[in-house]
Amino acid sequence: MNGHAVESVSHLTQTGIEASKKMAESSSSMHDLDASQLTVTLTQNPREVPGLNSAEVWSVKACTDHMVTVKWTDDYGWHAPKIVPYGPLEIMPTASCLHYATQCFEGMKVYRGYDGKLRLFRPDKNCSRLVSSATRVALPPFNPLELEKLLKALMRLDGPRWLPKTQPENFLYLRPAMIGNGEQLGVVSPSEVLLFIIAVPWPDLSTGWSPSATAKPPGLKLLASKNDIRAWPGGFGYAKVGANYGPAFVAQMEGRKQGYDQILWLFGPDFQVTEAGASNFFVVWKTKEGKLQLVTAPLEGKIILDGVTRRSVLELARERFIESSEYLTADIKSLDVVERTYTMDELVEAEKKGRLIEAFVSGTAYFITPVKTVNFRDEDLNIPMACEDTGHYAGVLKQWLLDIKYGKVDHEWGVVVEEE
Ligand SMILES: *Cc1c(COP(=O)(O)O)cnc(C)c1O
Repeated sequence: MNGHAVESVSHLTQTGIEASKKMAESSSSMHDLDASQLTVTLTQNPREVPGLNSAEVWSVKACTDHMVTVKWTDDYGWHAPKIVPYGPLEIMPTASCLHYATQCFEGMKVYRGYDGKLRLFRPDKNCSRLVSSATRVALPPFNPLELEKLLKALMRLDGPRWLPKTQPENFLYLRPAMIGNGEQLGVVSPSEVLLFIIAVPWPDLSTGWSPSATAKPPGLKLLASKNDIRAWPGGFGYAKVGANYGPAFVAQMEGRKQGYDQILWLFGPDFQVTEAGASNFFVVWKTKEGKLQLVTAPLEGKIILDGVTRRSVLELARERFIESSEYLTADIKSLDVVERTYTMDELVEAEKKGRLIEAFVSGTAYFITPVKTVNFRDEDLNIPMACEDTGHYAGVLKQWLLDIKYGKVDHEWGVVVEEE
């Protein structure tokens, strides 16, 4: 390179180079999330544990005794994590998340097994997804393995009382979240961030049962979205960020008024089927050529969430719904597992021609729940549920996942939390 070229680098570029150099230098001295620095302050006032399936559980307000909090600042990185009694957070009215939606979260569960052990389900997937969501909204990354250790530490503490060994086959919902915090109202990425984890008894939404509703027949009723769009290419539909939810509640409330449980989000002028509210959407159908398929929308395009349950359904289906599998029965046949873009027109045609076999949603909150109706253009599409309360495929997939989560079978996806 000759001298002239160096001289021609503009002042602005030079400043940029120096700034990024400085950032690189300072980031090597920035502290990563480190669970070994954890300090614990025990509660002096243990909260009352609500009864199983009680109205209090359905209110989803009864958090456990403790929570994890970790502060990040742009001059230090991740500070020492703390476990403290559950209670209000201290944030200023200027906090970034309150103005600019610098927020993301995770949803996972901890399960009390048939064998008395406490298990997380594929926690590595949730922890790394939180990093991916965080960086989409200008929040700092961290080592996901350290977050997994913090989740386990909280459960070691609150698990024994909130999920007693005497009541196997129950779970708590875990909610790690990150928010832009701080005292600065400037329209910039936050210089202070708070990561926290809370745990809450959560109702079993997969059965359709609830204490208030008059007994509801099984199967979800979905309303296909009309004018609202949940996510679009180049957006943030793949990230678990709060900003995806507020706007979606408008359509959801409208759907509830009309008697539907959730929205089925469509995309584009050809009405591509994407996913349902907080859950991924699957159909089992026969193609025109007579091929049996399990179909779901693809991750490419980044407009749907990469659900841990979705991923698990696909992996189990690819492993077990195959020719000569020991899991095949008169009702469960081998099929092709397909991730591709498909449209409402295809779904409607399959239904009209009697090729539609079943549909279900998957997610941590809804688990595997059969879908019995999709309303599209003011017409109810009736989806079969071959064994009364579920379809055959949704039924076995749900059972397989339950067996892993509650430790009926030994599987690498069920990660045991060692208790004292
Ligand atoms: C959380 C979520 C899901 C389900 O993901 P899981 O990891 O299976 O719980 C699906 N769609 C959206 C939009 C979600 O937020």
